[in-house]
Amino acid sequence: MTSPDTYFKNALLQDGTLNDIIVRDGRIQSIVPAGSGAGAETVDIAGALLVPGFVEGHIHLDTSFWGDKWIPYKPCTDGFDVHERVTFQAQNMAEAAPMDVRARNQLDLCISNGSLQMRSHVMVDGSVGLKSLETILKVREEYRDLIDVQLVAFPQSGILKSHGTPDLLDAAIGLGADLIGGLDPLSFDRDIKGHLDVVFGLAEKHGVDVDIHLHDGSQLGAMTIEEICARTVALGMQGHVAVSHAYGLGDLPRDAAMKIAGLIARSGVSIMTNAPGHHNFPPVALLRAEGVNVFSGSDNIRDSWWPFGDGDMLRRAEIISYRSGFFTDLELTSAFDVVTAGGAKALRLEGYGIAVGAKADFVAIPAAHVPEAVVGVPKPRRVFKGGRLVAENGAVIR
Ligand SMILES: [Zn+2]
Repeated sequence: MTSPDTYFKNALLQDGTLNDIIVRDGRIQSIVPAGSGAGAETVDIAGALLVPGFVEGHIHLDTSFWGDKWIPYKPCTDGFDVHERVTFQAQNMAEAAPMDVRARNQLDLCISNGSLQMRSHVMVDGSVGLKSLETILKVREEYRDLIDVQLVAFPQSGILKSHGTPDLLDAAIGLGADLIGGLDPLSFDRDIKGHLDVVFGLAEKHGVDVDIHLHDGSQLGAMTIEEICARTVALGMQGHVAVSHAYGLGDLPRDAAMKIAGLIARSGVSIMTNAPGHHNFPPVALLRAEGVNVFSGSDNIRDSWWPFGDGDMLRRAEIISYRSGFFTDLELTSAFDVVTAGGAKALRLEGYGIAVGAKADFVAIPAAHVPEAVVGVPKPRRVFKGGRLVAENGAVIR
């Protein structure tokens, strides 16, 4: 049955024009100059900037303590050690609120800030088996009318080093995970071929996309990216593979970075960065100039890895700009693109954007234009999913 049209009047679009947007059955039916029409149901956007829902492209719904008690960050005994952090994480999670409660807290946070599309990594390994995934799958189902969530089966304890993980990853896809993840094939599993054989083997077997955590720096990171690109092309998976963090790209001299950027672009591999403050990170402008799709995410929010994060992808665009030295309107808009269109491309979202035929998933922000929104991170916001108001004044409406 067709629902009555909803008129969203006086919406300021990214091109600076004021428009009315007509929505039918959750999709944008038409976009006309403001004042051209009225319908049975009218929502006044009142001149606020209307942008597509943000794409939260990398988050961990299973490990955040947002909304739970404060858990102080515990430093490693000697520098930074992924293995030790995984141990701390297990200790912290044992005394935290139940995972489903914490995942809901985090989803509410993200939706209220305007994220309507998400990719979350969920731990699948010998330590937790499929338990975390089962919990997050149930929570995803509860939120299906509020946000679209892709889940990555994430081998947090390595694939070869954690007993039974290849079979668990295989089972995770059967259970409902959408993508296969990976973790530092060289530094963690010490076997790039063995690790990627499992990741790409399962991707090929199930016809799913790949998103690999890669923290390895400099040449170690670059070598891994080259290998991921080669496998992506060999399997014809261009557009279906992402490398998250890719810190190593930020360590390379400009010439080397440009060379590998060309390879990444030709291979159709997306790069995810959250522009961390404590680490070199991929050169966003250089990558985009070479044709690489860059997207972003909050990554960890108040968990065992760091105490930061607020689930606001507009704030993330500001952080990317701040860390990248983006000052001009064009540069600030490019950071906005990373948290919107870049994410949509990496997640292969259908019907994304403010366009006729697209899903009516949008956010109304009190800003005059995108560059101002990026530096000001203004609130309050109104968030609409399929044309329905799902969050207002920082709270989710059910
Ligand atoms: Zn992550």
